[in-house]
Amino acid sequence: MKVQVCIIGGGPSGLLLSQLLHLQGIDTIVLEKYSRDHVLARIRAGVLEHGFAKLMREAQCGERMDREGEIHHGIHISHDGVMDRIDLSKYSGGSSVIVYGQTELTRDLYEARDKLGGKVIHNAADVTPCDVKSDRPYVTYRDGDKVIRVDCEYVIGADGFHGVSRKSIPKDVLREYERVYPFGWLGVLSRTKPVSAELIYAKHERGFALCSLRSQVLSRYYIQVPLSDTPEGWSDDAFWGELKHRLPGEVAAKLITGPSIEKSIAPLRSFVAEPMRYGRLLLAGDAAHIVPPTGARGLNSAASDIYYLYHAMVDHYKKGDDAGLDGYSNRALARVWKAQRFSWWMTMLLHRFPDNIPYDNKLQDTDLAYLFSSEAALRSFAENYVGLPF
Ligand SMILES: Cc1cc2nc3c(=O)[nH]c(=O)nc-3n(C[C@H](O)[C@H](O)[C@H](O)COP(=O)(O)OP(=O)(O)OC[C@H]3O[C@@H](n4cnc5c(N)ncnc54)[C@H](O)[C@@H]3O)c2cc1C
Repeated sequence: MKVQVCIIGGGPSGLLLSQLLHLQGIDTIVLEKYSRDHVLARIRAGVLEHGFAKLMREAQCGERMDREGEIHHGIHISHDGVMDRIDLSKYSGGSSVIVYGQTELTRDLYEARDKLGGKVIHNAADVTPCDVKSDRPYVTYRDGDKVIRVDCEYVIGADGFHGVSRKSIPKDVLREYERVYPFGWLGVLSRTKPVSAELIYAKHERGFALCSLRSQVLSRYYIQVPLSDTPEGWSDDAFWGELKHRLPGEVAAKLITGPSIEKSIAPLRSFVAEPMRYGRLLLAGDAAHIVPPTGARGLNSAASDIYYLYHAMVDHYKKGDDAGLDGYSNRALARVWKAQRFSWWMTMLLHRFPDNIPYDNKLQDTDLAYLFSSEAALRSFAENYVGLPF
């Protein structure tokens, strides 16, 4: 089989890029390790930047997002028994974010791929990028006993943090930067009315909590837990009880609880791999970088990679201009690191760190007090939260 661009990974990054390129007449194939149902069962991101939403519309996938997604103009941070609101629109010059679940977004992308007859291979086993330093790279995968070879001009590694693409770059080329945090987030999805129309980030001496949502009938709540905890060790009652402890009294009193329809623990990690290009292999999204979810930047950072890649590929195929491809790694990394900084900062600001000395706790309180006492700090927060320009 021969295509122009072979994309490894059928998550949001891979699907969005293949859809955008297809619309420009560039031939792609997506190789996904798991079944479609498996990919669609993942509960992940929910907060989208407008830059991402624009790209979804350009990919002709934005109709349901625009109909069902919720525009949020602010967020709340609760601390020391009080709740402060950050008016994102006021401090960002009129911008906002869209709350729309990653599961729904991925479903929209799959449907759009189906409609155009896009090539998406599921259950592709042992996917292996080969000869990516040459002008004739190819990718192999296994379908049962058959090994299939896909010849291509470029390979996109959009196969997430645990994928094969990044690992195929030699160790003496790849530099990895990582911080692992000493806790995780226990997340619960429940078919209940959200406790607040806008997200509440709660800093509490028992640990961080987040009240998020996917729609007006689907709530997503998180609490900070030690990495040694397991979802099975947390009954629904224990989860709701702990969440209430960490929220201001008036919010806890309004919280509607119900059975969890999904419960999982996500470890928190900051990670960047450089460079994002090796020969004709280009990394995108979680394959190259991970952020702790505190700043809601993960999926949004993937979107900026796709934006740069999409334009670089179009310039290459339509104008014979390789500047975008040559500069891709540096350009993408410049924005990736800014998202890393903001996500790290929000994580440090709002979580309880087991090894903190009293001095560290005082600095954390001061950082928060500064945020709410300075218009410059609020502007900086809002600018980062709604998303820096691509
Ligand atoms: C609990 C949680 C909450 C989050 N909340 C937010 C948020 O609010 N906002 C935000 O912006 N981000 C958030 N994120 C991050 C966001 O979900 C990711 O950044 C996003 O999924 C990245 O998309 P991707 O397509 O790059 O990678 P993935 O979604 O990981 O997709 C990669 C795909 O590649 C496939 N694959 C893996 N290995 C192989 C292989 N060997 N061969 C072929 N295919 C392979 C995988 O099955 C997967 O389908 C959150 C993440 C978590 C875990």
